[in-house]
Amino acid sequence: MDFSSSDCYRFKTFIENMNDAIVVENESGELVLANQAFCDLFNITASPDDIVGIDCAYSAQQSKHLFKDPERFIERKNEILRNKEPVGHEVLEMVGDKFLERDFIPIFEKGSYVGLVWVFKDLTAHYQMQSQLVMLTETIREQSLTDSLTGVGNRRYLDSELPRYSDYAKRHNTPLCIAIVDIDFFKSVNDEYGHEIGDQALVHVANYLKTSIRSSDLIGRMGGEEFMIVMPETSLEDAKKRILDLHASYRPPANLNKRMTFSVGMSCVSGDEDYKVTLSRADQALYEAKREGRNRVVVSEA
Ligand code: GH3
Ligand code: MG
Ligand code: MG
Repeated sequence: MDFSSSDCYRFKTFIENMNDAIVVENESGELVLANQAFCDLFNITASPDDIVGIDCAYSAQQSKHLFKDPERFIERKNEILRNKEPVGHEVLEMVGDKFLERDFIPIFEKGSYVGLVWVFKDLTAHYQMQSQLVMLTETIREQSLTDSLTGVGNRRYLDSELPRYSDYAKRHNTPLCIAIVDIDFFKSVNDEYGHEIGDQALVHVANYLKTSIRSSDLIGRMGGEEFMIVMPETSLEDAKKRILDLHASYRPPANLNKRMTFSVGMSCVSGDEDYKVTLSRADQALYEAKREGRNRVVVSEA
């Protein structure tokens, strides 16, 4: 390729002014033209004019360490050169979390191969933005499902998870138990100690419940001073024992002189019962626990 003709001069000027990194090789693999963007991208300190004539296969070997998988970079480059078919938008991962997009354009003159053009685009900013967006979406999703005061799941979380747990139990024919925990006379805690201490007491109970359940159990704040514990693959007998132990081992926050207790209503899915029915039975059991004097566990035996 001769860059002295006026057509080629225009082509050269066009390439020099492009933001994408461009390199042109002749049929023997010698570099005939590169732009400053190419030198910048590959940390080449020499000017584009100074690298004209270099052996591109050799310089690829020299710069392969810049790629995450150097041998794959060389292999793929050789494959493209053998095929002499255009390649578009191939993403290359480089060290230092950099991403490039590479295009390959073979040049034919009257049917015979006379060289090629490589075009590289730096997509790092694009990929960084994309991964930030993924992280941000995940954070927002997590926040939307978390109770901001206690850090346990919120009502939305419970509403979305309960059907999944119920489906699993039905599909695998395994037991599923639900406990509703409600702090006793919590209004009077607020009245006596103020809302801030009331908030701390809620966190205290949430932390206690969270650390007392199994990792496979689910906990969430239903609202106010009510929490729900969902126990998958747990029989009524086991769930009852665990909830009675959890209730018996609970200690109120040290800064409350007053005893702060909680009541629990519990039920397990019976036969092919809808989990909403199980839930309302647990609610009924909680109501009974309150009626019977609070600070106790009542189990709804279906
Ligand atoms: P019971 O034993 O019948 O459950 O009585 P209770 O006082 O716990 O129940 P009640 O429903 O009468 O009052 C619940 C109280 O919980 C009222 C409300 O001020 C308080 N509460 C709800 N959410 C919060 C919160 O986020 N922070 C604080 N500090 N208090 C809350
Ligand atoms: Mg209460
Ligand atoms: Mg309540």
